[in-house]
Amino acid sequence: MSRFLSKKFDGLVPYVPGEQPKDRGYIKLNANESPYPPAPGVQEAAVKAAAGLQLYADPDCRELRRRLAEFHGISPDTVSVTNGSDIALAFIIRAFGDKEKPFVWPDMTYSFYPILSRYCGVPFTEIPLRDDFTIELSDYEEVPGNMIIANPNAPTGIAMDPEEIAGFARRHPERLLIVDEAYVDFGARSCIPFTQELDNLIVVQTYSKARSFAGGRLGVIIGAAPLITDLETLRNSVDPFNVNSMTIACGIASLDAAEYYRENCRKITETRAITAQGLERMGFTVLPSSANFVFAKHPALPGDTMLKGLRERGILIRHFSFPRIIDWNRITIGTPEQMRELLKQTEDLLKEVNS
Ligand SMILES: *Cc1c(COP(=O)(O)O)cnc(C)c1O
Repeated sequence: MSRFLSKKFDGLVPYVPGEQPKDRGYIKLNANESPYPPAPGVQEAAVKAAAGLQLYADPDCRELRRRLAEFHGISPDTVSVTNGSDIALAFIIRAFGDKEKPFVWPDMTYSFYPILSRYCGVPFTEIPLRDDFTIELSDYEEVPGNMIIANPNAPTGIAMDPEEIAGFARRHPERLLIVDEAYVDFGARSCIPFTQELDNLIVVQTYSKARSFAGGRLGVIIGAAPLITDLETLRNSVDPFNVNSMTIACGIASLDAAEYYRENCRKITETRAITAQGLERMGFTVLPSSANFVFAKHPALPGDTMLKGLRERGILIRHFSFPRIIDWNRITIGTPEQMRELLKQTEDLLKEVNS
């Protein structure tokens, strides 16, 4: 830290993404990336857009927003896009949070929320998940503040009923509810339809997971027009060109290739079921996942032993050192071949640890 850093950033601890080591080839099951490449049309769109990189992109991303609105069957003034969804969450916390307007979310959820909140100087409360790792919305009735719910939740993969979430928003018109749907395409149902009737519900989605675009960066925000206007004001006050012209082109081409991505999601959910069965056969407890990962623990294999053992065997998974989930690991669903290798190496590791 230099002597020039503002006091407000004293002790700010940044997010640590899943590691991307290059020391050898790894099977990467640690960052919930898609094992499948973007659709061919998306790669072509990027190359084509690159020929015009000397020009600024449309700061309002009108064409992409129109296409997104059409895709979701909603009004174009209820959609906005950002350079990945993490920055969308930052705009949301910054726009709608302050000392008088704190935020609330579960104790076990996407670990970026508290980091963004500290960065924005917005206080927050964390409500424990129930013992079975589910979110019980009645626990939030008495705790004031705007809420962020990841649905499906991470790292558990457990999904909630969108009607239940919309019902909470309806009962609490003074509170803003943000639903982070990063994993919705892997088996959960979206809250998007409810954003068209409730003025206190925002859905955030990302192209990083189900649309194979983590390296490209595209986030989508859907909510009532006045909320979108506020967020656009913030975006245009920081970085109006925050979605670049290649990303815009790729976003549109991804919508053209919707069927390709649906098929990928189908393959991934199928592979997820086989992986969960394989792990359960070895004695793992696996939470019911609606995401592109499973959250699992084994009575005879401590979480970090599994992490280290698999890394030595060329497979990366994700371990979190929070006391409550110290025994657990989050394993991204890759291709069927990658998951066969995961099961095989895990079985070997179990034999080694227990001999
Ligand atoms: C991956 C993820 C995001 C962020 O994705 P971006 O790559 O920034 O678009 C947001 N929320 C959750 C719960 C995620 O897992």
